[in-house]
Amino acid sequence: MCGDGMKPVEILFYNTASREKEVFAPIDPANVRMYACGPTVYDFAHIGNGRTAVTFDLVFRLLRHHFGDDHVTYVRNFTDVEDKIIARAKERNLPIAEVTEPVAKVYQEDMYALGNIAPTVEPRATAHIGDMVAMIEQLIVKGHAYEAEEHVLFSVQTMDDYGDLSRRSVDEMLAGARVDVAPYKKDPMDFVLWKPSTDDQPGWDSPWGRGRPGWHIECSAMSAHHLGITFDIHGGGIDLAFPHHENEIAQSKCAHDGAEMARIWMHGGYLQVDGQKMSKSLGNFLTVHDLIQKWPGEALRLHLLMTHYRQPLNWTEAGVREAKTVLDRWYRLLGDRQDVGGAAGPRVPEAFVAAFSDDLNTPQALAVMHELAHQASKGDGAAAAQLEAAGRLLGLFAMTPAEWARWQPSGAEIDETAVEALIEARANARSQKNFKEADRIRDELKSMGVAIEDGPDGTTWRTDT
Ligand SMILES: [Zn+2]
Repeated sequence: MCGDGMKPVEILFYNTASREKEVFAPIDPANVRMYACGPTVYDFAHIGNGRTAVTFDLVFRLLRHHFGDDHVTYVRNFTDVEDKIIARAKERNLPIAEVTEPVAKVYQEDMYALGNIAPTVEPRATAHIGDMVAMIEQLIVKGHAYEAEEHVLFSVQTMDDYGDLSRRSVDEMLAGARVDVAPYKKDPMDFVLWKPSTDDQPGWDSPWGRGRPGWHIECSAMSAHHLGITFDIHGGGIDLAFPHHENEIAQSKCAHDGAEMARIWMHGGYLQVDGQKMSKSLGNFLTVHDLIQKWPGEALRLHLLMTHYRQPLNWTEAGVREAKTVLDRWYRLLGDRQDVGGAAGPRVPEAFVAAFSDDLNTPQALAVMHELAHQASKGDGAAAAQLEAAGRLLGLFAMTPAEWARWQPSGAEIDETAVEALIEARANARSQKNFKEADRIRDELKSMGVAIEDGPDGTTWRTDT
């Protein structure tokens, strides 16, 4: 996107594996490949899950900006077989697909509402059981896995560099993995690749009997299937670094004769609500599904972007309100802007791209947008156009200014026809110099949650929040 012989902006990503920010150089610039661990679909996504999805959507958008929309492959899986899913299905006496498919659909809708682009591929674990069985067979053949009591386990001792990603000692790993001590394990660190299913549990035939995969092997098999043995970026929330990602690396590397799984490992930070860990028992558990009833998805997204993705984020209602106020102002500037057109047309400013490319420095990128908004408020049409272009790159400004102005929380539906009729009645009253009636109508609209504004082109209205 940089013309005129200027040095292209470099992308820097913090790599958990090296603990350093690195210049990003894709294996194949024609097909940049990223995998991010997706949800286990048994319940609605919470805003912490939403934060992770937004983070990797930002990476996706940044890569598309630099390498072109058709040159980035982003895979985010659905874990649609897992013990929590099986338990939920049993409670409701349903086949697992009748639990997972509706939840997956809501997840996609929620992520769309947060302004995320759909990943290139969203594979389901249950559609890749054959790939998982094949990978487990390779691990057995190569001496990294063993069968015991209908289970197949990965033998951690057969891998010299196990634990490299998270850099934990064996003691820390034992504590952190909440290791199940089982009599069939050779070593307490060994983890399950395949486990048997009882007749009332979902299962697939395998060389080790009817059973189902462990969680970790799902991601190793799906990423190799869709992205190849070595790909550019692997992402997830920081809570997945150990043991999930450590185990993915172990499986993939050992199945592929030591070949690296991913060049860069990126992890998003924790999210707290009002300074506390989110939990159902504390009553501060916020699902994306509930939040998007009360707030526009873009306000939620902007609240997330205000904190750098690796930092802990404190989610507060005041933070969402602040984000909404900023967007109200920005949308108003976009609505007011004169068409600049032609050569002076929208172009994402260099300072913005540089900040965004610096390990997704969204606080800095937003600072550039605030400066553009300041210029735009003084009538600078080019700055307003740049503000819009920058916002779009971050996944904002998907609505028109008019749509934004009229956004309403669900359950507070304003009857637009009635509003238009009242505005017309007020215009009639004014033309008859009946200002008392005109004011009464204005107050009536206000009581309906509608603010009006008289301009040269007539009266416009917005929801009054
Ligand atoms: Zn995963």
